[in-house]
Amino acid sequence: MDKIYDVIIIGGGPAGLMTAFYCGTGGMKPMILEALDFLGGQSAALYPEKPVYDVPGILECTGQELSDSLTEQVMQIEPHLEFNQSVDEIKQVDGIWNLICKSGKVYQTKAVVVATGKGAFSPIKLNAPGEDEYYGKGLSYSVKHIAAFKGQDLLIVGGGDSAMDWTCTLKDVAKSVTLIHRRDGFKAHIGAVNQVKAMAEAGEINMFIPYEIKNIEGKGKVEKVTLFNNQTNEEKSMPIQSIIICAGFKPTADALKKWGLDLNEKGFIKTHEMCKTNLPGIFAVGDATEYPGKRHLIVMEFGEAASAAGAVSTHIYGKGKGGAEWWAGPKKKKTGNVEIDKDNDQKQTVSAGS
Ligand SMILES: Cc1cc2nc3c(=O)[nH]c(=O)nc-3n(C[C@H](O)[C@H](O)[C@H](O)COP(=O)(O)OP(=O)(O)OC[C@H]3O[C@@H](n4cnc5c(N)ncnc54)[C@H](O)[C@@H]3O)c2cc1C
Repeated sequence: MDKIYDVIIIGGGPAGLMTAFYCGTGGMKPMILEALDFLGGQSAALYPEKPVYDVPGILECTGQELSDSLTEQVMQIEPHLEFNQSVDEIKQVDGIWNLICKSGKVYQTKAVVVATGKGAFSPIKLNAPGEDEYYGKGLSYSVKHIAAFKGQDLLIVGGGDSAMDWTCTLKDVAKSVTLIHRRDGFKAHIGAVNQVKAMAEAGEINMFIPYEIKNIEGKGKVEKVTLFNNQTNEEKSMPIQSIIICAGFKPTADALKKWGLDLNEKGFIKTHEMCKTNLPGIFAVGDATEYPGKRHLIVMEFGEAASAAGAVSTHIYGKGKGGAEWWAGPKKKKTGNVEIDKDNDQKQTVSAGS
């Protein structure tokens, strides 16, 4: 525990990775502490094969591809990185933040950026009959492998963006897709809802509203589901082999509460200008946070990352001073048609091509 880091970023999801990148470009040497044994957060853990269409500059990629290219980008600034380190407690001692991990390891730092996203990804359950019994036996809360749904009769439950995304993505893979939602209003983006409604009208999927699960049947795995209309009690039974429940994920408010951060009523960290929290030297970005106008989208988190890195720099060095060594781009880069290799006589390479 002898080293004091400039800045430690808790969480290696998209928000944490880009915060590390911007800290690096600002001359800092960030440390990322990640509870899992891989980077990428939700995009790698929850939807590695789902297409992502709304990251600026990338027409389409999968969640895994996004996390791979973010990781590659961040590795250019050579951050410190520790896997399997879940931060449990945060304490300030003589102006230095001590991060105590569940492993017992303690890390010291001048500044902290909390990028813990939805924490340990604990799914919100419906408490439907059979939900626990069939979990892992056809019933899941996320999609790891799209191919697993090939030829399956699939039931998707939910009215948010994930439910709409999976309905659109899996309708061409599964044998049939049935979407149910317990009420008429949707939390998902209106464009996605309209797309799904058009698919239902065209007969490409089944959509039942306001329906819920009455029971799940099957010998050791999901085989049949009975649904009920929560207004009229009308029932529908159908063969189903796979169920995806998209009711969202609970943030780990309990861990955050221990850290003394100001949280809103939903358990998200309240942030102020430049991603500041109520604690001096602790900043927060990404899905872990909420403020007026916040949307839980990667594009917003990238903006927060840039902002937080600027705030961290000001916190450590003072306004307008910056880190020790400014980053001038990757060691090997292409400028127009000219290849530059900083380790191998940069000037000669540049003049040869110019
Ligand atoms: C199914 C699905 C589809 C989505 N599709 C899109 C999309 O198409 N476009 C879009 O913009 N957004 C999409 N999102 C939302 C997007 O994935 C999130 O907004 C984004 O992942 C949030 O990034 P983050 O870095 O804040 O958090 P996360 O991705 O949740 O990463 C947080 C990281 O912190 C780690 N961590 C947590 N607690 C600790 C701790 N105590 N100590 C150490 N490490 C810790 C976690 O292990 C995790 O790796 C989707 C989400 C889901 C669930």
